[in-house]
Amino acid sequence: MPKFIKIAGSNEHFEVNNIYCIGKNYLDHIKEFGQTSAPEKPVVFLKPNSAIIGDGESINIPVWEGKPISNSVHYETELVVAIGKNGSKIPENEAEEFIFGYAIGLDMTLRDVQSEAKKSGLPWTAAKGFHSSAPISNIIRADKKINPMDLNLKLEINGIEKQHGNTSLMLFNICKLISYISSIFYIQKGDLIFTGTPEGVGEVIRGDNLHAVLGNNLLNLKVKVDG
Ligand code: MG
Repeated sequence: MPKFIKIAGSNEHFEVNNIYCIGKNYLDHIKEFGQTSAPEKPVVFLKPNSAIIGDGESINIPVWEGKPISNSVHYETELVVAIGKNGSKIPENEAEEFIFGYAIGLDMTLRDVQSEAKKSGLPWTAAKGFHSSAPISNIIRADKKINPMDLNLKLEINGIEKQHGNTSLMLFNICKLISYISSIFYIQKGDLIFTGTPEGVGEVIRGDNLHAVLGNNLLNLKVKVDG
């Protein structure tokens, strides 16, 4: 089923295709997992587009045989880049032409399930791609007035600030990410790229109200953890 995201300031919608996500793109976040070195290349993983939920919707912690499959659900607040045209092998200096716009998103993660998968050398797919694992705000069109490499990211839970960062601290900037991803995959209009989280990730529990803000109130996203 196609997934649509509202385009801010219009009645139009952006139809979501593939969702690429970047791990380990902020050094301070890498350090909070006890590691010290940055990756040599971007770390890429995928979420299904059915993981998308919009403003006002709920995150559902997956349940299997009557029990939650995770006891440690984490938020990761991220700048999301929306891709506006198809391409492959895009040089870094041409990557900007492929950007349709920006959003703020949450890369919701079943941290215990992910840790177990890492330990066993198994894929992260369930930990990162479960239904409702990709809450996302409306998309704002790219504009010369928006510098995506200097945007504040903020998350409040139940009115208390839990995470903040700035996109200027990314290890691999947006154009480099588009260039890298398109050297492996054929990127398409409608794709989204979650660009990684700054430090300060942590747990949510049922009933929590999450409020993510991009820039100086450029975009807002409010979602609830189902309870
Ligand atoms: Mg992430």
